[in-house]
Amino acid sequence: MIPIDKEEFRTYRGYFMADEPGLTSGMEDYLEMVYRMTEGEGTVRLFDLAASLNVQPPSATRMVQRLAHAGLLDYEKYGTIQLTPEGKRRGLSLLNRHHLIEEFLRALGVRENVLKDTELIEHNISDELLGRISSFVSFARKNPAWLRQWNPRLAQRPEKES
Ligand code: MN
Repeated sequence: MIPIDKEEFRTYRGYFMADEPGLTSGMEDYLEMVYRMTEGEGTVRLFDLAASLNVQPPSATRMVQRLAHAGLLDYEKYGTIQLTPEGKRRGLSLLNRHHLIEEFLRALGVRENVLKDTELIEHNISDELLGRISSFVSFARKNPAWLRQWNPRLAQRPEKES
């Protein structure tokens, strides 16, 4: 009998949510936006949050209630939203992940749909891949000449843009 290696088979969800169970892509988007709008401190109003995400207030209410139930924020009906310490921690890590993927795509020379691609990738990336991307991005930052050698198109772009 051929020994099967010890790695467990898992569902798609099992792979990608193993580290932080319980957050859907939608919840991640909301938590990231609350973090952006509050910068981790302070409060944001539900209507303003809904407007920023281009959703109707009732949808925002439902999602905010789920996040409150998960212990990530405090929410008073028709009132304001405030992150809990755990919500701040998770929100900041979601925002950092977003920035990292965006920077990676720009380093590759992606110019169109950077935001859309970032949004698609960020919810479906493993911790290992994110770690490798992080390492790549910091290497590229320290070695701009190397990056331009790899992709001469990047040299045409002024340093201080975006
Ligand atoms: Mn995002």
